[in-house]
Amino acid sequence: MLFKKYHIVIFKDKQGTCRKMGIRGGIFLLFFLLFAGMAAGNVYLWKHYAKSIKVEKDLNLAEKTIHEQKTQLLSLAQKLGGLQKSLRRINDFDSKLRVMIDLDQESAQASSPKGGTQSETFSNGYLPLYRQELLARKMHRFLKQLNVEARLEEVKQQEILAKLRQKQDILEATPSIWPTTGWVTSPFGWRTSPFTGKREHHPGLDISAPSGTPIYAPAKGKVTLAGNRHDGYGIQVKLYHGGNITTRYAHMKKTAVKHGQTVTRGELIGYVGNTGRSTGPHVHYEVHKAQVAVNPMKYILN
Ligand SMILES: [Zn+2]
Repeated sequence: MLFKKYHIVIFKDKQGTCRKMGIRGGIFLLFFLLFAGMAAGNVYLWKHYAKSIKVEKDLNLAEKTIHEQKTQLLSLAQKLGGLQKSLRRINDFDSKLRVMIDLDQESAQASSPKGGTQSETFSNGYLPLYRQELLARKMHRFLKQLNVEARLEEVKQQEILAKLRQKQDILEATPSIWPTTGWVTSPFGWRTSPFTGKREHHPGLDISAPSGTPIYAPAKGKVTLAGNRHDGYGIQVKLYHGGNITTRYAHMKKTAVKHGQTVTRGELIGYVGNTGRSTGPHVHYEVHKAQVAVNPMKYILN
C-alpha cells in the first residue's frame, strides 16, 4: 500500500475546476515525515524558548533581590555610622563630666576618643559586590564592640553618679553653662593677635553678642571684682567659685553685681560691651583653676 499511487485533488473555488496531482506513496511518506520532523523540531524549540524566558525572569528577580539587599546593607551601614557618632558624643560628654568632677585629671582630650569605636568607619555610596561581605563583617565587629562599650559606659556612668552624689556642693559651684548667648569668635589657645598680628596665647573664650546682651553666672560663686581696673579687660567681673576655680568676664558694658556679693548659677552679673582692649562687643570668658587659665569649653555642658 505504501507504493501505491495517491492523488491529491485541489479544487479551485467557485469555478468548479480542479487539479489532480499524483504522488507516490513513498514520496508522500517522505513528505509526511519531513513535516512531522519539522513540527517536532518546532515543539522542541518552543520548549527551549519557554525555558529561557523563565530563566531570564528568575535572573531578573535575583538581580532585584541583590539590589534590594545591597540597599538594605547600605542603609544599615549608614545607621551604624550614626550610632557610632552618637557613641562618640556620649564618650566626649562623659569625659567632660569626669574632668569636672575630678574623676580623671585634665584628661578630656586624652580620653575623648575612647579606644575602638573610631576604628570602624562605614563609608556609604559606592559599594562593589566584593566589598559587601567586607562591610557586613565590619558591621558585625562594630556591633560586638558596641555591646562592650555600652556595658563599659554603664559602669562609668554609675561611677560618675556615685561621685556626683558625694560632690553636690562642689558641683553647684562648678561652671557648667554658657555665660551668655552668642557665637564663639575666638577659642582658647594659641592665635594670631588682632592687635599685634603676632602669635599669642589667648587665655579665654571670646563670645560675640550684641551690646547689652545679659551675662549670667555659670555657677554659684562670690564676686571678687566688679568694675574697671584699666588693665585692658575693661569693665569686668571676677567670680570665685571655691575649689580653686575662678572665672572672669571682660569687656562688659556694665556690671549687675557688686564686690563681695554672692551669686547663684544663672544669675545676671552684667551686660555684653566693648570696653577695654576690644574690637567689638563680646565677652572674654576665662576659667582659672589653681591660678592657671584652662579651656572654658571644658566647663560648658550645654
Ligand atoms: Zn578674648
